[in-house]
Amino acid sequence: MSSEMVADYTVVHERAKSFYKRFERKPELQHQTHFCPGCGHGTVHKMLARAIDELGIQDRTVLVGPVGCGVFTYYYFDVGNIQAAHGRAPAVATAAKRSHPESIVIAYQGDGDLSAIGAAEILHAANRRENISVIFINNAIYSMTGGQVAPTTLLGQKSTTTPNGRSAANEGFPMHVSELLSTLEGPVYIERVGLGDNKQIMQANRAIRRAVENQVKGLGFSLIEVLSPCPTIWKMSPVEAQHAVRDVMEKVYPLGVFCDRTKEVEPRALPTAGPSLDEIPGILGVTDADSTAGNTAKAQAEDVDLHVRVAGFGGQGVLLMGEILAEAGLNAGLEVSWLPSYGPEMRSGTSNCHVRLSNQTIDSPLVTAPNVLVAMNEPSLRKFEKSVPAGGWIIYNGDEFPTDCAQQDVHVLALPFTQVAYELGSVRAGNMVMLGAMLEIVKALPQASIDAALRRMVKNPKWLELDAKAIARGRELFKENAGPRP
Ligand code: SF4
Repeated sequence: MSSEMVADYTVVHERAKSFYKRFERKPELQHQTHFCPGCGHGTVHKMLARAIDELGIQDRTVLVGPVGCGVFTYYYFDVGNIQAAHGRAPAVATAAKRSHPESIVIAYQGDGDLSAIGAAEILHAANRRENISVIFINNAIYSMTGGQVAPTTLLGQKSTTTPNGRSAANEGFPMHVSELLSTLEGPVYIERVGLGDNKQIMQANRAIRRAVENQVKGLGFSLIEVLSPCPTIWKMSPVEAQHAVRDVMEKVYPLGVFCDRTKEVEPRALPTAGPSLDEIPGILGVTDADSTAGNTAKAQAEDVDLHVRVAGFGGQGVLLMGEILAEAGLNAGLEVSWLPSYGPEMRSGTSNCHVRLSNQTIDSPLVTAPNVLVAMNEPSLRKFEKSVPAGGWIIYNGDEFPTDCAQQDVHVLALPFTQVAYELGSVRAGNMVMLGAMLEIVKALPQASIDAALRRMVKNPKWLELDAKAIARGRELFKENAGPRP
């Protein structure tokens, strides 16, 4: 045994600092994991914790756990932990890394998780050369769920779903993930290692550390596939299972480095910080005039709690009307939400949106009982009119309000708003005429907040002028016509 191997062996048996002092998964035992005796997961956990210790990255490591026997990483590793949905660890790791580029993000996955349901995620993360490290445990079976065939199951290997052994004709061939990913240009480092004997374990230890170190250096995507024993599902003793890794699995999945671009690629620079708060209005195209108007326009009512539903045909400006209302609410310093809702047939189909304005925190953007319903056509009126509670308002775009609609204790303003808009210059401003009428009901929003919202949302000067005129006309119509229900 070389001195290096002695050193490695010694350190492997010390408890890594990146592990919790107590493993709460089995609190009565404190130091035991949930893994079966002889399982490879525990060995790989030690290697990974040790690599994190040695690289001094515990305080910035984020470990993304899988679904499978390795699911409980968060019980053992004293690092940032995220539990991903089945197969999605590379996508979650991508998000974590991109949003916190200074962090070291490690996805830990089994073969059912990575090579079956998560095959697309790993393929694209590798192809994008995401600067993450992936530890891939291949034990050739779905273990946690009791031993179903996995993409990595060997030909002839029995499983609960291949009781006669996997056959290429029925279940296809064992999937060679490392070889497959190595055909891509993206990956920086891919190696397959095993836990079949001490020599293999030493190499696995080095490879795992290297995969993490590559990320510390900013080099890009690294994946280490670990051939790992599963004595329980393989129905073997721990020793037999370890030998099976070396004598059986390795014959199908040869060990080695399949891809190494670490000398070719340039380390990535950490992205510069995002824009400052002062820069954001410029990026969003908000002008000083908008900001000034917004800042000076404060909600006129102290107690604002508006639940508005706007509904009509696609193309009637339903969503825009809701957006302008929400934008004006923002300008007036209110809490707002705007939630569009439309079907696949949006253009010329039905469309509606939910708008909330409040001076309290908004609990839900859904509007199920609108105190103002803006119905731009009869189908919308019939669909939503019963949801308006007593004391609420219905603004209806039509010559006559259908006599069979709505309870008696709901206010109604029914006018041919589209016709009014046509007379102003375009039927397309019908939504703004209705908005004007609604603003007279709402009262809470100062005109300056509306003007600023219009300038922000309507960039064409011709339409801006027409919309402003339409809103003003809507206000007049409300004053002229609002009264007892027809
Ligand atoms: S079932 Fe297999 S993979 Fe799962 S913990 Fe037990 S030995 Fe490990």
